[in-house]
Amino acid sequence: MKSAKLIDGKVQIINLEKPILDEKGAIIKVLGCGLCGSDLVKIIHSNKQTEKNIVLGHEVVGVIDEINSISDFKKGDVVALGHHYPCFNCEYCKNQSYSMCRTFKHSNIFPSGFSEYIKVDENHLKYTVYKMNDELKNDEKAFLEPLSCCIRAVRRAGFDIKNDNSDFSALTIGLGSIGLLMLKALRAFKVQAFGFDISPDRMKKAIDDGFSLDENKKYDAVFLTAGNSKAIETALKYVIDGGKIIVFSSVEDDLKGFSNNEIYYRELSIISSYSPSPYDIELSAKFLNEKIVNVKGLSSHYTLDNLAKAVDDSFNNKIFKAYIEV
Ligand SMILES: [Zn+2]
Ligand SMILES: [Zn+2]
Repeated sequence: MKSAKLIDGKVQIINLEKPILDEKGAIIKVLGCGLCGSDLVKIIHSNKQTEKNIVLGHEVVGVIDEINSISDFKKGDVVALGHHYPCFNCEYCKNQSYSMCRTFKHSNIFPSGFSEYIKVDENHLKYTVYKMNDELKNDEKAFLEPLSCCIRAVRRAGFDIKNDNSDFSALTIGLGSIGLLMLKALRAFKVQAFGFDISPDRMKKAIDDGFSLDENKKYDAVFLTAGNSKAIETALKYVIDGGKIIVFSSVEDDLKGFSNNEIYYRELSIISSYSPSPYDIELSAKFLNEKIVNVKGLSSHYTLDNLAKAVDDSFNNKIFKAYIEV
């Protein structure tokens, strides 16, 4: 079968044996997989030593091809999935830092999302795999994992889906696909959602979706999805005294200065959010399947053979979000 691999810093399509179902779990025939910003970061920071362990692609939608499980899934089910699950038992899980759990970090799909077939284990089926509404297009189903990452960030900021959050406002800085998704997640939580990007094109796309920037407002929470260390200055400008800044992306160059006194005197909370828990994935499936969050038309489509082009186009900001049809 075809599978993508990073070789000498370049994305290449190689031939691999189809995975064998040698434990409880399932073999999934991949229909498509979204290209995540984190895949791009892995590619940029790869070297000869690290590239052999890099798993490219995790925003998978597929059909169950073989199954050996006590779960309700059956052959032919169309599913979307996340790639990591926690143990619920360790010192990290006890603090609800599920994405720091060592089981979480080591669990993964095999061999990678950009493959014709993948193997998932019984815990994936239990915690990360969801049947998806037939009315959604496959590229929309593939937003299960990225949307769940945003949901996690919204929850880390203290918003609970069970509460009325409509008195609270949030600003998202950086309106690429994940920033726009953050705005949609905030709206699903009924938080007043505003967005800002230095790119007029991205700003326009957000405005078309009903999100704007109120320059005179201070925001209860500011989400950083820009991947640029300067964005923290914009966050400090717009966050309300006593408010929260949620760090949601890596940056190329960490700023040297740490705004100790500003954070202290303004009693700001700096929170980060990295990767979703099973609960976030469950809520993401609900938001997509019940069309509470609409991700129609966000993706540009490529074939697996053209994955390298999708990577280039993403690096060069030619597209908003790449979806690879497998
Ligand atoms: Zn991702
Ligand atoms: Zn754990």
